[in-house]
Amino acid sequence: MNAPLARYTRFGLGGPARLLVDAASPDAFIQVHRLVSASSEPWTLLGGGTNLIVSDAGFDGIVVRFTGQTVEREGNTIRVEAGAVLQHLVDFAIAEGLGGIETMTGIPGWVGAAVYGNAGAYGQSIAERLTDAVYFDGSRTEVLDNAGCGFTYRASGFKKHKERAVLSARFAMLPADRVALREKAEGILTVRNAKYPPTMKCAGSIFKNLLFADLTEKARAAVPPSLVRDGKVPSAFFLEQAGGKGMVQGGMEVARYHANLIFNTGTGTARDVCQLIDLLKGRVRERFAVELEEEVQYVGLADRRSY
Ligand SMILES: Cc1cc2nc3c(=O)[nH]c(=O)nc-3n(C[C@H](O)[C@H](O)[C@H](O)COP(=O)(O)OP(=O)(O)OC[C@H]3O[C@@H](n4cnc5c(N)ncnc54)[C@H](O)[C@@H]3O)c2cc1C
Repeated sequence: MNAPLARYTRFGLGGPARLLVDAASPDAFIQVHRLVSASSEPWTLLGGGTNLIVSDAGFDGIVVRFTGQTVEREGNTIRVEAGAVLQHLVDFAIAEGLGGIETMTGIPGWVGAAVYGNAGAYGQSIAERLTDAVYFDGSRTEVLDNAGCGFTYRASGFKKHKERAVLSARFAMLPADRVALREKAEGILTVRNAKYPPTMKCAGSIFKNLLFADLTEKARAAVPPSLVRDGKVPSAFFLEQAGGKGMVQGGMEVARYHANLIFNTGTGTARDVCQLIDLLKGRVRERFAVELEEEVQYVGLADRRSY
């Protein structure tokens, strides 16, 4: 009861949830999900809380987490429960000499949300390896194959069906040399830890990168061709050009070395970060006629004006 959500989010933000319920087995989780879906209470799913901005007023409802963490190998396939930490899955795969997700090392959070958001880094993403995912929607358990998950860049069909809670997923892996996999992962982790120090209170990239093809003529003309990779332009480019680096709002600050990274200096609030996001979006819109879209998810901030 009255669970302080700031403790459950990496940004260290947000007021309390009326109730926080953890369920460690699929059966227990299904029972909880059935109950909350059938009730008139607002409810939401949480994972590791690394991609969230929770309202300062908290969430006037029930927060549910599925914490099942089983990871197991079936031939060259790995089956994993949604509450497993993504890094554990990556480490398991490397130890088993199975490649395909090693460059996702260092992405914080749990597997369920990684499926939900099609997490990825350094050229690999969930969508490339996932064969199927099991979800429960409040009344039925269903299995979706890869196409059924509707993956796109940092998104999946689960974003449009918030009632669908991922319970587990299977990944088809590629046999590989474990020493080479480990070396690659460690190199990436070193770079990542410099960019995102493990104690930094943040949510990773605040905004999604942009598809070059979707940009206005004016914006395209401003982008150096060398920045376009796989048809995408880093939103950090526009943010930097618009003077975003180092901007401060209350206790929230944009990193001086990376314009798409906002961190909590210790006293930041959801209000501060929402205002900073609005300022950044406004500057980029005005200068380039580009509409940035948040990668970060909001909890208890449905209208985004109430903070
Ligand atoms: C320092 C840092 C670096 C990051 N770098 C990257 C990166 O390189 N690449 C990248 O893709 N992301 C990155 N992120 C973002 C974040 O790690 C991912 O989005 C991650 O997948 C979120 O996992 P989580 O468990 O913390 O989810 P949460 O923040 O708890 O939740 C995110 C969303 O997932 C939904 N959700 C949670 N569990 C389930 C479930 N079982 N079924 C369905 N929906 C669910 C929630 O309702 C919520 O809307 C970074 C974040 C940080 C803090």
